[in-house]
Amino acid sequence: MCIFCSIVKGDIPSYKVYEDENFLAFLDISQAEIGHTLVIPKKHFDNLLEMDDETAKGLIVLVKNLAKKVKKSTNASGINILNNNGESAGQSVKHVHFHIIPRYDGDDLVMKFTEHKLSQEEFLDLAKKIRG
Ligand code: AMP
Ligand code: ZN
Repeated sequence: MCIFCSIVKGDIPSYKVYEDENFLAFLDISQAEIGHTLVIPKKHFDNLLEMDDETAKGLIVLVKNLAKKVKKSTNASGINILNNNGESAGQSVKHVHFHIIPRYDGDDLVMKFTEHKLSQEEFLDLAKKIRG
């Protein structure tokens, strides 16, 4: 059983901030910024891409609503919402989860995108490939 399934079951303790029949939210044990919260479906899916649409819809709406509560309660000035899918994308726990991370003016959290320069032709080819 995965670690988040064990949290759902109550075998591993967590600092719960929200719970209903289908979803659970709890504080991330490693607080990237104060208020860092994880939101999961109680049912196990390895990642977002594996989810059925109905549960995914419920999850994203809950993430949005909890993000507002986290932002208000922490007096954050911004919020990052993150979802990692696959090891190469930084997913360490294989049970789909969204990170809600409050951001504060001048905080020290670094999220860095490096730029891959593409020609116009490469952009066109890439967009065509993804459209399918
Ligand atoms: P990710 O790297 O996107 O898979 O994120 C997994 C997150 O789960 C990390 O930020 C961990 O700090 C967090 N985490 C792992 N175990 C626990 C736990 N027992 N309680 C709360 N958060 C956890
Ligand atoms: Zn699980």
